[in-house]
Amino acid sequence: MPTIHQSEWAKALIHLFALASRLEGEGQYNLAKLARAAADSMCRQAAFEIAMPGARDELAADVKLTSQTLAHLHVSDELIAALTQGAEVMAAGQLPLISLLPHPHVCRTCGHVTLGEPAQKCPICAAWPDTFQRFMPNYWFDALEPFAAMQCLRQTPVEAEALLQGLSEAQLNQPPEDGGWAIRNVLIHLRDAQGVFAARLDLFRQEEHPVLAAKAVWTWAAATEERPPTALEIFSAYQTSRAQTLAKLEQLPLAHWWRTGRHEEFGEVTLRQQVSYFAAHELTHLPQIMALRPSNA
Ligand SMILES: [Zn+2]
Repeated sequence: MPTIHQSEWAKALIHLFALASRLEGEGQYNLAKLARAAADSMCRQAAFEIAMPGARDELAADVKLTSQTLAHLHVSDELIAALTQGAEVMAAGQLPLISLLPHPHVCRTCGHVTLGEPAQKCPICAAWPDTFQRFMPNYWFDALEPFAAMQCLRQTPVEAEALLQGLSEAQLNQPPEDGGWAIRNVLIHLRDAQGVFAARLDLFRQEEHPVLAAKAVWTWAAATEERPPTALEIFSAYQTSRAQTLAKLEQLPLAHWWRTGRHEEFGEVTLRQQVSYFAAHELTHLPQIMALRPSNA
């Protein structure tokens, strides 16, 4: 990215937000969406250039340090306190749960923050509580509607299988030079996530408003004691479990997709959101397998 003076950059960014709000007020929603996309793109481009810490404890320390900086920038005390508490839980090797970190809601008009569902009008600008923007832990919950999610759950194993074609067991087990995951670890992760998904679907089918335990699925893939199943056997277990899950979903009346459960990490979720979550999550791992394939394969 060419060097741009930071204050010029920040001014343009803030102006885009102001412009978008004003355009929305004028009913010019198609123009407003462009201004919001430009602002989002500017921030993501700049963030893409920054090297972030790789180790968990360094990352937790970064969150703490960043929250201290925010105190001078008029960010909500409640939000800063939550960031600091969440960083402590992370530093202790755990996932902060919804009880500690409710979803933040930001007033679209004035930027006032409420942790958890706002019950009253905005105390600064009197905006209606339902107009606040809710920040979810990721976009996967609402990424896919039921039929698109089913299609995705059917298609991803097919695409993954094509990416594994012609690779030897040794190649599947070869970690990259930076010491990260081998393709085998990605396959373990896909199978583990599918296992959690299958168990949750059963809970939704068997119970009214089930409790969904928080699972640090990401960390399981690095476990080294899992021998001897080959990478292809791991992939085959994933395919079998997926086929069973799809058969159950096909039998499910559409209205049941809106049944709710209580997720310990993410709060109130519908089955529809869980299916969308697991389907959209997998898509982020296909480029990872592609990048790990040896260039001559
Ligand atoms: Zn407000």
